[in-house]
Amino acid sequence: MSGKVWFVGAGPGDPELITVKGRDLIAQADAILFAGSLVSQAAMRWAKPGCAVEDSKGMDLEQIVAWLIEKAQKGEAVVRLQTGDPGLYGALIEMVQPLDAQGIDVGVVPGVSSAMASAAAGVESLTLPEVTQTVILTRVEGRTPMPEGESLPELAKHHCTLCLFLSITLLKKVQADLLEAGWSPDAPVLVVHKASWPDKEKIIRGTLTDIREKCRAEKINSQAMIIVSPTIGARDWSELKKSKLYDKNFSHRFRKATHKTVHES
Ligand code: SAH
Repeated sequence: MSGKVWFVGAGPGDPELITVKGRDLIAQADAILFAGSLVSQAAMRWAKPGCAVEDSKGMDLEQIVAWLIEKAQKGEAVVRLQTGDPGLYGALIEMVQPLDAQGIDVGVVPGVSSAMASAAAGVESLTLPEVTQTVILTRVEGRTPMPEGESLPELAKHHCTLCLFLSITLLKKVQADLLEAGWSPDAPVLVVHKASWPDKEKIIRGTLTDIREKCRAEKINSQAMIIVSPTIGARDWSELKKSKLYDKNFSHRFRKATHKTVHES
């Protein structure tokens, strides 16, 4: 791997949620640049002695790229460690293009995204048969403008699972946009702060109406995933729609009734 830059997904926080491949690359690396605010420093536990380990917190994009290029051009094995999966809100391509321009070899190791870790924290499934089979990973418009057709009210019209990144300070807008898209004020919402972080994870459950108040009470205003989905809370449903559909006899006799229930919920 010498002279190559690996973009490695560190996972959502728990150091054990990095992939085996990512961990092995860290162990071989001569230089590691990690994204400070979210990547747990514990992920550094596998770096070899003498490895240059630096936090990119105070660096801008040009400085980050210059650091990676300098190390790679010395023939070092370089790892850029990023939170969650590098391909989601990770500025991956902005960093890869200058490396390509220098003829530096690049590799990417996927990571467990905070969307998946948050669902796991809440023991939730993002898809359920007959409920929703679609997941949208998105964000509310902040400083980064949303492309045409991707505003939250437009996306929310699908009534599928929505995982909202980078939006915890914009819960008021989330509420308004989802109501505009026809969601019920009682629709369940899951917010997970620092999903998978040992001793730091917080799980907040509420509805579109009260989730903002609940998050405020818990002082959650960063590093949080918002999941709005018709699947939230399914663990407590007395009748899981799927099980009826799989029971041959039951679904034969009650297929119509089952179908009706699905559409009423
Ligand atoms: N690439 C990352 C996302 C980076 S954008 C990934 O795949 O998860 C940063 C946003 O990700 C935060 O605003 C928050 O919405 C979410 N996030 C990152 N880590 C998180 C965690 N441990 N728990 C909850 N949300 C997290």
